[in-house]
Amino acid sequence: MPVIKDNVIMLDDGLASHKPTIHDILSIIEDSLTKAGVSYDRISVKGAELIIDDRKPSKKMLIEPKLFTCPHCGFVTVSEEEYWNHLKCHYFGF
Ligand SMILES: [Zn+2]
Repeated sequence: MPVIKDNVIMLDDGLASHKPTIHDILSIIEDSLTKAGVSYDRISVKGAELIIDDRKPSKKMLIEPKLFTCPHCGFVTVSEEEYWNHLKCHYFGF
């Protein structure tokens, strides 16, 4: 499985039955990125690394973090833990 770290994708080919060609890898990466909904301008090969040129932040990447909203009082937090802690206040009546 490819590991995506920043804009560099590292491939662990230790389990591969044959060493994939760079062309094989490119099509796998393009496929993965498309499935993940990642947009990119181009992919270039630099030694053993594939460099992906991102587009400017897409709308997808600008989506705000998941928000947890308290159904009782409208309290909003991005932390699920904080959300559950907050809910206890209602249930246990602090
Ligand atoms: Zn609340």
